[in-house]
Amino acid sequence: MRIAVIGGGASGIMAAIAGAYNGAHVTIYERCDRIGRKILATGNGRCNYTNINAEIVNYHGENPCFIKNITEKFWVRETIEFFESLGMLTKVENEGKVYPYSLQASAVLDVLRFELERLNIRIVTDFEVKSLKKQSGEFLIESYDGKKEKAQKVILSTGGKASPSLGSNGSGYDIAKSLGHKITKIFPSLVQVKTETTLVKAMKGIKTDAVVSFLSGNVKDKVRGEVLFTEYGLSGPAVFNISRHCGETRDAKIKLDLLPDMDFNSLREMLLKRKELNITLENFFVGMLNKKIGMTVMKYANVLPYSRQADSLTAKEISSLCEAIKSFTLTVEGTMSWNNAQVTSGGVDVFEIDENTLESKIIKGLYMTGELLDIDGDCGGYNLQWAWSSGYVAGESAAKGE
Ligand SMILES: Cc1cc2nc3c(=O)[nH]c(=O)nc-3n(C[C@H](O)[C@H](O)[C@H](O)COP(=O)(O)OP(=O)(O)OC[C@H]3O[C@@H](n4cnc5c(N)ncnc54)[C@H](O)[C@@H]3O)c2cc1C
Repeated sequence: MRIAVIGGGASGIMAAIAGAYNGAHVTIYERCDRIGRKILATGNGRCNYTNINAEIVNYHGENPCFIKNITEKFWVRETIEFFESLGMLTKVENEGKVYPYSLQASAVLDVLRFELERLNIRIVTDFEVKSLKKQSGEFLIESYDGKKEKAQKVILSTGGKASPSLGSNGSGYDIAKSLGHKITKIFPSLVQVKTETTLVKAMKGIKTDAVVSFLSGNVKDKVRGEVLFTEYGLSGPAVFNISRHCGETRDAKIKLDLLPDMDFNSLREMLLKRKELNITLENFFVGMLNKKIGMTVMKYANVLPYSRQADSLTAKEISSLCEAIKSFTLTVEGTMSWNNAQVTSGGVDVFEIDENTLESKIIKGLYMTGELLDIDGDCGGYNLQWAWSSGYVAGESAAKGE
């Protein structure tokens, strides 16, 4: 069986290895000058390669349950065992995030490269696939500079459109479309969110734990985690996880609960007691909130000037401060661009893909993996897990199928 894998990213490399494990002769065609460039950039160079808590609820798209059968075949345990079998030890950090023990993304790519070499998998770089056709039972693969290759089966692993400088420029969608596949609406996800900036600018660079709620019409979402204030709005894992809603919605708001461990009434009681401290408003929140966040909260609640003594606060002002801390609300103005996004939301419509094998229901012998499909995961190792799982199952199915 001759299998062509188009795209040498996480899912394509895994598909190639699984294909070879099952006896196929595999070639990877990659448009960049080397494979796996994006892997090196993941997890801030440490590669958060899976998450021990990964479940279907961590995935999104028009039909996230599509991944169920794949998770039963090759999921977190199998992924960790796979990397261990290649000699890579694992470290589990907070929130179930899994990294290579050396905390080097290069270790993940290295062990994969050694395995590709051991299995004699052919790698053709600087080969950007322009067109893919099926003729007389065989696939004809043509590059932009006119090179032609043939294969019996093809695994399309071109990724999405996020971070195009790392290889995935969205060309896979055109290839899938040319073969009759539908592409759902795509938009950047796991990306920084732009908001009104008058107040957030003053907190630029500060990280805090918060509950982040997204509010727009019927769409509501809530995540707790780290938020980073920036000069254009908000960043950090919790904001990334709600960013998929922020691209196209109008009149959307983000509400931050800046003291998630305390309810409104307990906070109110505490602030009433705090009035008795002999301090000015400038220092009213010191020891409770980051000082700059505290001062911005005062501004938001319009409880000023900072030079006032705390004991001058009225009951109404204390309530306004509680409201500002528990419901610090900002208008959403969109997201940063594809260049900043970690993943693509939307993609090839999964209703046209077999949920057991990842084979196209339109073109026999064509398989699809990873971010190209309309499946995207939360921040925290979930997207690479989907890449490994979908790659493994597609590679195995392509090699084993007729
Ligand atoms: C900065 C950053 C950090 C991230 N960190 C994490 C993390 O820590 N944990 C996590 O789980 N996820 C992380 N992600 C997301 C994760 O990396 C991706 O979801 C995953 O790599 C997708 O794998 P893929 O194989 O589907 O696509 P990709 O990894 O994008 O690979 C696609 C490959 O196909 C090639 N290609 C595209 N078109 C063609 C063509 N026409 N012809 C030939 N080759 C082509 C591309 O050059 C690329 O090499 C991060 C993403 C980014 C951008």
